[in-house]
Amino acid sequence: MRTPFVVGNWKLHKTVSEALTLVTELKNQLAAIKGVAVAVAPPFTALTSVAKRLEDSAIGVAGQNCHWESKGAFTGEVSAPLLADAGCTWCIVGHSERRTLFGDSSAAVGKKASAVLAAGLGVIVCIGETEAERDAGRTFAVLDEQLAGSLPALAGSEQDFARLVVAYEPVWAIGTGRTASTAQAQEAHAHVRKRLTERFGGAGAGAIRIQYGGSVKPSNAESLMAEPDIDGALVGGASLEAADFVAIVKAARPK
Ligand code: PEP
Repeated sequence: MRTPFVVGNWKLHKTVSEALTLVTELKNQLAAIKGVAVAVAPPFTALTSVAKRLEDSAIGVAGQNCHWESKGAFTGEVSAPLLADAGCTWCIVGHSERRTLFGDSSAAVGKKASAVLAAGLGVIVCIGETEAERDAGRTFAVLDEQLAGSLPALAGSEQDFARLVVAYEPVWAIGTGRTASTAQAQEAHAHVRKRLTERFGGAGAGAIRIQYGGSVKPSNAESLMAEPDIDGALVGGASLEAADFVAIVKAARPK
């Protein structure tokens, strides 16, 4: 069985002291919650402080992006080994904001994803269609293109599959307040699971978690999480408030 996984993507928010306030609240309020894996993805500047604060907690820490090279003349970049050194156990790659605002191609995302796994971290690979692509009936084709380029090379061990997470995030639902219906989300997740099965076999695809992301909030989390192929959430805006994020984590508990 897949343990649901809920990750808070803080994007470009929170000073170190704000990050510590939030994560301390999360640590206290989530301590007793069982059956859900949880991580937060603060901005780079707060990673070390947050990881230290979470040392005695089950909450993981994720980078929001990284470079595919581990070191070298790459001004402004951060590598997966440096994220591990800062206390991260996960890294998000291919978020739609990276793809659209910073030009991350699927090929680049795939290289980043492989680098994350090679550094011993787990990777969350984001994919998702724009509204225009959905309206044009191209949702599955876009997901296929993105999956083909963005997934990491995997040795195929059980541990590998537990360290690979795919986040389906329809671009039209990110930060807009519009959420995919449970049927739309489940349909996309089932399609992704089918493609993962073709690529990694049934046991591998059955172990890979597929998160939904796009305006997840306490009011819609329960119904999304009840779908058979939705294994947790990648949460943006609602992860910046402890009460909202905790409610979403509670909604992801296995029933
Ligand atoms: C995200 O940034 O991954 C996201 C899903 O954002 P929001 O929850 O704000 O839509």
